[in-house]
Amino acid sequence: MSATANAPALPPAGNIARYDHLFIGGDWVAPEDGGVMESIDPSQGTPWAMVAYGGKRDIDKAVAAARAALDGPWGRMPGHERAALMRRFADLYKEHARTLAILETRDSGRALRESLLDVGGHCNGYHWWASLADKHSGRTIPFDDSVHVFTTRVPVGVVGAITPWNVPLMAAAWKLGPALAAGCTVVLKPAEHTPVTSLELGKLFELAGFPPGVVNIVPGYGRDGAGEYLVAHPGVDKIAFTGEGATAKAILRTGAETMKRFTFELGGKSPHIIFADADVEQALNAATNSAWTLCGQSCALGSRVLVQRPVYDRVVEEFVRRAARVRVGQPMDERNHMGPQAHAEQLAKTLSYIDIGTQEGAELVAGGNRLSGAGLDGGYFIQPTVFAGVTNAMRIAREEIFGPVAALIPFDHEDEAVAIANDTSYGLTAGLWTGDVGRAHRVSSRIRAGMVWVNTYRFIRWSTPYGGFKASGWGRENGIEALDSYLDTRTTVVSTTGRFPDAYAV
Ligand code: NAD
Repeated sequence: MSATANAPALPPAGNIARYDHLFIGGDWVAPEDGGVMESIDPSQGTPWAMVAYGGKRDIDKAVAAARAALDGPWGRMPGHERAALMRRFADLYKEHARTLAILETRDSGRALRESLLDVGGHCNGYHWWASLADKHSGRTIPFDDSVHVFTTRVPVGVVGAITPWNVPLMAAAWKLGPALAAGCTVVLKPAEHTPVTSLELGKLFELAGFPPGVVNIVPGYGRDGAGEYLVAHPGVDKIAFTGEGATAKAILRTGAETMKRFTFELGGKSPHIIFADADVEQALNAATNSAWTLCGQSCALGSRVLVQRPVYDRVVEEFVRRAARVRVGQPMDERNHMGPQAHAEQLAKTLSYIDIGTQEGAELVAGGNRLSGAGLDGGYFIQPTVFAGVTNAMRIAREEIFGPVAALIPFDHEDEAVAIANDTSYGLTAGLWTGDVGRAHRVSSRIRAGMVWVNTYRFIRWSTPYGGFKASGWGRENGIEALDSYLDTRTTVVSTTGRFPDAYAV
């Protein structure tokens, strides 16, 4: 592929798009021992793109390129120059955001109106990270006048970034931003279901003028594929992973051999608590949106809606009424609120949980079915779904479904709400709605979750640390905390005398 011809361009409608190359060492190269895989358009259930994927030798090459860049031009580049490159990239990202959003929708099925909003904001994140690229300084440590002690913050090294299929560009941004600001180099391995937009990033890094090998992009499979090879590779210093808990455990086992650093952003089963003293209308706006956004395929969604008994019936009725208002349809049509599930296995998983909920005795009050007809045949479309009368013991309240399924759980008292909220193996996010400021502080401080929203929901920005307690993960993405996880601390001790006693003189 040639350089500047590579800015994101939409593949012609109706044709299968081709992404025949991996982005390694600044070049577009054919896979050595990988191959080509289909990327399925979830709105049709048919392939829309053929995409190169990497094997073991391709990962070896990508890691070698990342190491060479780290030991070479990128590692020697002053922070302000890295920042300038990152800003150039951010500007290009902004320029191409609409195309990237369209491609993200083609690949993942996310409604275009959501993709445009999400992807349109990523450039601000990259700018924010750029502003930190020359500001990670160490400190001096007073001891006595025989030594001068100081610390420096150094990049952890080569980062393997492994991302999921629900938000490929966002997950990549959350890793690339802090990694590049810290001075690391990266091998990005997007999910096999949604590899396209990550490859598009390679074109923008090339256009921005990044030195070869700073960012390498190798789509591929997870287990027994590029993902596992990356984790096992001795040349990789850190794995930044977003995905399922079971995958994280497999990664830990594989990576233990080479003592890598890890950050894990994993699942959630977030409680969204509505107290009777809340502005219930606003709470409903947030709770319905956070049940069905991204077709339910987001770790942060409030999939357990805890509602205080005096307003429970009203909330159930409104959920049902609003579920009927959600326009589910072709994701490229900007009028539609919700597209399909991202792949066939996810659709099957969501439908199986709807069966489980019914069998467990929860009351299915809205949705529950796959959608067909009206141009939806073949796609993985599903109705926004609501279960009432859910108890926290039910599997639909305990396990991550990752579909547009809200579980409405009644409660009577504040202590009970906190107990239910915390009775989960997860601890990613939580929301609560109340008109009582004391209760807002009391309850938010008792919830075991990495992010708690009060009278709002899903406010997530590049500057706000994001990550989980308990089984929801290790470490933070976004915020200064994320930068820390891409830096190591070197302590240097300089003797002011140069004298060292001979311990064996006598
Ligand atoms: P997944 O764990 O199946 O896959 C994630 C990535 O890991 C993919 O790129 C996959 O190829 C790779 N992978 C799989 N097995 C691997 C292995 N053995 N070694 C190395 N790599 C491997 O997750 P998914 O189904 O793509 O994504 C959905 C999950 O991600 C949900 O659980 C969701 O909650 C979570 N998620 C969390 C956040 C967050 O910020 N906390 C954000 C988005 C998604």
